[in-house]
Amino acid sequence: MNANSSISSASLDTNAKLSGSRGFFGNISSRLGSQPLMGSCNIKAADALLLLQSYEESQQGWFWSTDASGNLTYITESVARALGGASAELLGKPMASLFCKSADDDAGSRTLPFILTKKVKFSGLEVQAASSEEECWLSISGRPYHDKSGNFLGFRGSGSDVTAQRKLTSDTSRLAMFDSLTGLANRASMAKKLETTLAAYRSQQRACAVMLVDLDRFKQVNDTLGHPTGDALLKLVAERLLKVVGQAGEVCRLGGDEFQIMLRDCDDRGVLGDLASKIIRSLSQPYSVGGHRCIIGASIGIAVSPFDGLTSEEIVKSSDLALYEAKGNGRGRFRFYSKELQRSVEERQVLAEDLENAITNGELELAYQPIVNAQTNVVEGFETLLRWNHVKRGRISPALFIPIAEEANLIWELGEWVIHQACKDAAQWPCKARVAVNVAPSQFANQRFPKIVDAALQASGLSPERLEIEITEGVFTGEAHETDAMFQALKSRDVRLVLDDFGTGHSSLGHLQTAPFDKIKIDQNFVRGATEPGSRNGAIIAAIVALAEAIGMETTAEGIETMDEFDLIKKLNVSHVQGYVYSEAVSNADLVENLAGGQWTIEPTGPAHHRNDRLSMYRKVRMIHENHVYSIVIRNLSVTGALVEGLYNVPIGTKFVIDFGDGQLAVATVCRSTRNQQGIKFETRLVSDGNGGLCTSRRVSPYLIAEAGLEVPNLPAGHVPTRKMDADSLSLPAFSTVADWEATKVKAK
Ligand code: C2E
Ligand code: MG
Ligand code: MG
Repeated sequence: MNANSSISSASLDTNAKLSGSRGFFGNISSRLGSQPLMGSCNIKAADALLLLQSYEESQQGWFWSTDASGNLTYITESVARALGGASAELLGKPMASLFCKSADDDAGSRTLPFILTKKVKFSGLEVQAASSEEECWLSISGRPYHDKSGNFLGFRGSGSDVTAQRKLTSDTSRLAMFDSLTGLANRASMAKKLETTLAAYRSQQRACAVMLVDLDRFKQVNDTLGHPTGDALLKLVAERLLKVVGQAGEVCRLGGDEFQIMLRDCDDRGVLGDLASKIIRSLSQPYSVGGHRCIIGASIGIAVSPFDGLTSEEIVKSSDLALYEAKGNGRGRFRFYSKELQRSVEERQVLAEDLENAITNGELELAYQPIVNAQTNVVEGFETLLRWNHVKRGRISPALFIPIAEEANLIWELGEWVIHQACKDAAQWPCKARVAVNVAPSQFANQRFPKIVDAALQASGLSPERLEIEITEGVFTGEAHETDAMFQALKSRDVRLVLDDFGTGHSSLGHLQTAPFDKIKIDQNFVRGATEPGSRNGAIIAAIVALAEAIGMETTAEGIETMDEFDLIKKLNVSHVQGYVYSEAVSNADLVENLAGGQWTIEPTGPAHHRNDRLSMYRKVRMIHENHVYSIVIRNLSVTGALVEGLYNVPIGTKFVIDFGDGQLAVATVCRSTRNQQGIKFETRLVSDGNGGLCTSRRVSPYLIAEAGLEVPNLPAGHVPTRKMDADSLSLPAFSTVADWEATKVKAK
């Protein structure tokens, strides 16, 4: 029987050829022919063929067959086209060559060539078209067929297009793995990755760092500019993060404005601190989103396994605590986890409670730091700096308690008190010097703020042009027209506006041109940087001064401590200086006394230049020399060395190991020595801990400490000290300590 005798479609023309070569239709028709059903077998066969044809044309399914060698003997025309050719071109080609190995084939999965050689029935095998231009996935099933003697003749089968389902499934699993807004890995997938990495690294004793990045002032952008702008901003943040981190780590979005970075095999806090600073700098650059200009910042908490925790839960908790501290210490900073942090968190909670009562208890007072004309040395104004004399703890820095006040919503009450008191004091000064008051962004954003200013001026009788309002660029993250309206409201009252902390990372000269500032204060870190060789800060300061002069603004350089900074600032024509070269902040009583003659002139004095930023301290640490551990005190510390005290007559050149705790060991050599004090130089420079302190770049792994015979509390079970300290192996101490010295003195008496 000829299958196409009554059918003349293109598809069945092919079938006709195929039937001659024992193809699929040939086989069907011959089988149908050999099994007459309900009357005329010819009609039935033709019906069946028509049915199959319309099924093929509906594109719900398709058919294929091969010969015994696996070469194609039939394929539905429409599928042949999807596979990259007309069916006639594909016939005779190996069936397996039309498909490629799928990307997610794992080593154990069955492949088409393998199945075809097995000559067994198969179904639902998903394969991808090899030469299709667009991604095309097919699900195929087949069963072997044999002649009457049971000889294998090939495969016959069917298939369907599953491209859409595949895409849907992969989109769904993508959604489960990735953050739909930024395209970064999401919290769940990062948690899984971190857990597996840390589990593997525990047995391999490898390190892994985690950084938690939280955006500063993002909420303000979201609240004032709306969620679509917030979303667009988050996408830009993700892009910047990916660019800065590059291949060094993996970035994910935990949700909201929180991101996490996993850095494998990274425990060097020098490297981590540098990367964190880079991230903060990059994220703090202005963004242009939907016609709005936004400035946000970032704070980062860093923890490193195995030092700060072993499981992902521990390490995330540690980095979270470090982040909290970074935020609490003024934002725009990074912070490494350390064991003291837990204590400091509790301390902040107590301080927030105490702060509530501080105003009523009279624990707060104002100090005034002179702002001096750099050419004449005459004091022309004062900055009001809030001081808290805590009944139990003594003086607490505003850098610590102002952020606590902001967090605990106490800043408004505190700020109101400051402005009232400052105006009251200034109105009674014996000269017309100006008084500057710091105003936090949240105070500035409050529409009632001008009323507070009015009330303070009215109550004190101070003339408005003597009052300066110091604000930072944080105020520009708010709704632009509201910020403008606030500027106008204050300007209409004739108070002066000062841009504080210029150069701390969020600076933009654009603000100077648009906002009606009367003065710009260049931050101390920016000035400090300007004295370093190769720094461009000097040129930038010169440009700011030129711009400021052109638009009638004054400039003040803050935090000038040394004569080299002072000379540079004068050379750059900065009009005013505020810093220890002139005076620290003084009490109102001292100020009044100094102004008694109607004018206060101060001669600048100070060290010639900064010494490698030595931090004065009284810190007890352990010092290891040969087999002995001595207890000593560090009196000052810099990145390159320290002054230590506690041992007598130590020769120059002696090598020590200083144990700063928590695995922080630093090899040092004595370079100066007087009776009980030694100047020591570190073999490896210390690095910033992100919080004004110093730490060792690397720490000795807790695994090594355990091996050396010391107990390490956070190591997993099974990590017991491998060697116990042997008392007999200890040699005699080489140096006498203060205690020995005191004892000999007592004996001599
Ligand atoms: P600020 O407004 O930038 O104030 C200047 C800070 O630099 C003051 O620190 C001042 O004592 C310090 N300083 C001045 N000259 C030198 C110097 O030569 N060397 C060094 N190392 N530091 C110098 P202070 O008093 O600790 O205040 C820190 C910050 O706390 C202030 O920074 C300001 O942002 C905030 N603050 C202080 N009082 C208030 C307040 O009443 N309200 C608000 N909202 N913030 C305040
Ligand atoms: Mg200030
Ligand atoms: Mg400042």
